[in-house]
Amino acid sequence: MPEKKRKILVTSALPYANGPLHLGHLVEYIQTDIWVRFQKMRGHECYYVCADDTHGTPVMLRAQQEGITPEQLIARMGAEHQRDFADFGIGFDNYYSTHSDENREIVTEIYRRLSKAGHISRRTIKQAYDPVKNMFLPDRFIKGTCPRCNTPDQYGDSCENCGATYSPTELKNPVSALSGVPPVEKDSEHFFFKLGDFKDFLRMWLFPREHKNDRDIHVQAEVANKLDEWFDAGLKDWDISRDAPYFGFEIPDAPGKYFYVWLDAPVGYMASFKNLCAKQGLRFDDFWGQDSHAELYHFIGKDILYFHTRFWPAMLEGAGFRKPTSVFAHGFLTVNGTKMSKSRGTFITARSYLNHLAPPASSPSVSAENWARKRSTRNCCKKPGTPRKRSRRPTKTAITPRRCA
Ligand SMILES: [Zn+2]
Repeated sequence: MPEKKRKILVTSALPYANGPLHLGHLVEYIQTDIWVRFQKMRGHECYYVCADDTHGTPVMLRAQQEGITPEQLIARMGAEHQRDFADFGIGFDNYYSTHSDENREIVTEIYRRLSKAGHISRRTIKQAYDPVKNMFLPDRFIKGTCPRCNTPDQYGDSCENCGATYSPTELKNPVSALSGVPPVEKDSEHFFFKLGDFKDFLRMWLFPREHKNDRDIHVQAEVANKLDEWFDAGLKDWDISRDAPYFGFEIPDAPGKYFYVWLDAPVGYMASFKNLCAKQGLRFDDFWGQDSHAELYHFIGKDILYFHTRFWPAMLEGAGFRKPTSVFAHGFLTVNGTKMSKSRGTFITARSYLNHLAPPASSPSVSAENWARKRSTRNCCKKPGTPRKRSRRPTKTAITPRRCA
């Protein structure tokens, strides 16, 4: 009997616009692409959308370094990413940008709804400030000596030698990674999303079996275990604002305050789909409305689970949108047992692979000589740097966000 035609919306994580795609990224897009093609071949109405993730301090600083505007940087990176995706045969139905009118509109609407429902609070916090660059510093832009093991040159949030996590104020001899001068503490009013308001909802959404519901399973069992640990640690308010200078969307009625990039990034899924709706005459609410019967699947790496299984469903619930049907998390492509990483230089870019390693489409047989030549060309790709000495972190902290600003 033919299966009922399903409406399915699929996303992959949004690649960040401050660097090229590498093979670690492609692990995700290729598996998502295969899954989407399978659904389409079965005759279902299935859309695959994605976008460049464009906001935040790293993009702003990189543009400054290159002497161009953030808009110029993200336009160039967006074109490079799309070229790489096309040459790998990834079949998006729409590829867009988080720096778009659609995204600004939806983020603003979500914020207004959350605010109206009392899920946003404000309070003044102390934060590290670079007195030379005149800007607040994200944790990753502060370096110093580990307060526990005294290893120098560690980031402001964790030690790569002993695995300790701490706040930047605990670092010994802290300096700004931007100017090299010691940061000063400065007060600033920040906006918070009250995640604790969604404790019961999240518990029900993540652990349906506790409520004798074996049908609505949204995450893999291993993921649910991890999330249970995070629940035990408590649902703290989430800081969703950043001070100028910042590349992003300004918060309505709050001059000089911007939405933290992680607030607008997942909304980029909705914005990219909205853009597709305009092109193809689809109805946005059929897929994102509270009562939508369509299926929504997010493919992500395990490093961004925290955002996709806590903040994201809570934001959607609070703002009156539907929640994901499932979040599929995968592991990392590893080099010598460690994650293939841009920041550590242990990666092969998508373009290097295409230029030097991709099998020629026209000649499926590979001669030994050809193979040896291919192997030798690996040396002309970016050579993996020597990773900094790093101890394995305890499991409890092994899953960390991949971007911090
Ligand atoms: Zn340490």
